[in-house]
Amino acid sequence: MSHTTPRAATRAIRFLSVLLFLFVAWLFDFILSDIGNSKGPQLQTYHSEAVDPALVQREQDLIQETTKLNGSKNRQKEIQENLRASMEVAKETMEQMAGLHRLSLERGIEPSTDQSKAIAEAQQRYIQSQSSFEEANEKIADLNASAHALGQELNYTREMLEEQRKPAFEKWQRAHDVHEFKAAGLKLIFIVPVFLLGAFSIARRKDSLYRPIFMAIFVASFWQLGLVMHEHFPSEFFKYIAILAGIVIVMTFLVRTLQSAAKPQPAALLNRRREAYHKEICPACAYPFPNARATAYTCPSCGTGLFSACSSCGESRHDLLSFCSHCGSDRS
Ligand SMILES: [Zn+2]
Ligand SMILES: [Zn+2]
Repeated sequence: MSHTTPRAATRAIRFLSVLLFLFVAWLFDFILSDIGNSKGPQLQTYHSEAVDPALVQREQDLIQETTKLNGSKNRQKEIQENLRASMEVAKETMEQMAGLHRLSLERGIEPSTDQSKAIAEAQQRYIQSQSSFEEANEKIADLNASAHALGQELNYTREMLEEQRKPAFEKWQRAHDVHEFKAAGLKLIFIVPVFLLGAFSIARRKDSLYRPIFMAIFVASFWQLGLVMHEHFPSEFFKYIAILAGIVIVMTFLVRTLQSAAKPQPAALLNRRREAYHKEICPACAYPFPNARATAYTCPSCGTGLFSACSSCGESRHDLLSFCSHCGSDRS
């Protein structure tokens, strides 16, 4: 972008460059994820190859049996709750009846046969509920014992399965690592050349009109390269690479800036001189020069010749600019 580019155009170029960067980064992202998309080794396959299917079936059966057993246990507990409630009702009735019976005897009244019958019935019900309750207790104890045995067998089966799965998992892990490594390699084969090409274009074609385009491609590929490294390499390793890349980039820019400050490029130098003459200060040391001066004028501060007599027309001309402002003769 030269300094003669209008401001609106500069802004448009910047905006389009950023837009281009976003699209290129997006495109690279798609390409890279397609490269890394190939299906890797499946853990399920490795497991089913190593594990005895009968053992897996046994595990399933044991789980089913345990579920069924727990169902029966809950049913027995429900029954017990009901029995407990009816036992309490029977007990209450029995006590009430016994109270009435005692009252009648105290008052010297002969208790009716109905009363005696009701007491006997309540007693009967109470005793029945109690024995059913005991029965349920026994059933629960039996079920608990079976559940315990089932649980032990299930644990044992699972341990055996785990033992069979462990080497399969290790084998899968190794295959998975190899697959990931290959995917990372393929991604790098794509992105590293793009990155290098971008860097090369920027370094080699400094004055190219298409520099913003190279820049967008370079920055996008650098960004994606960072992402690939981050995804596929251990974070310890990545940390050093990222820091080293950062140092290299910052140093490159710093060295460039230092070089151009020490030995300005012709365009930058001309620009600086033009601005200084325009502001009526010495381009070398910024000491102001007077408006009214002799044909030839030297900066009193640093000794740089600022004006001299034109070799064509004899008028006073800018010593550090290319053309005479009076006759237009080119000195360079
Ligand atoms: Zn000066
Ligand atoms: Zn002249």
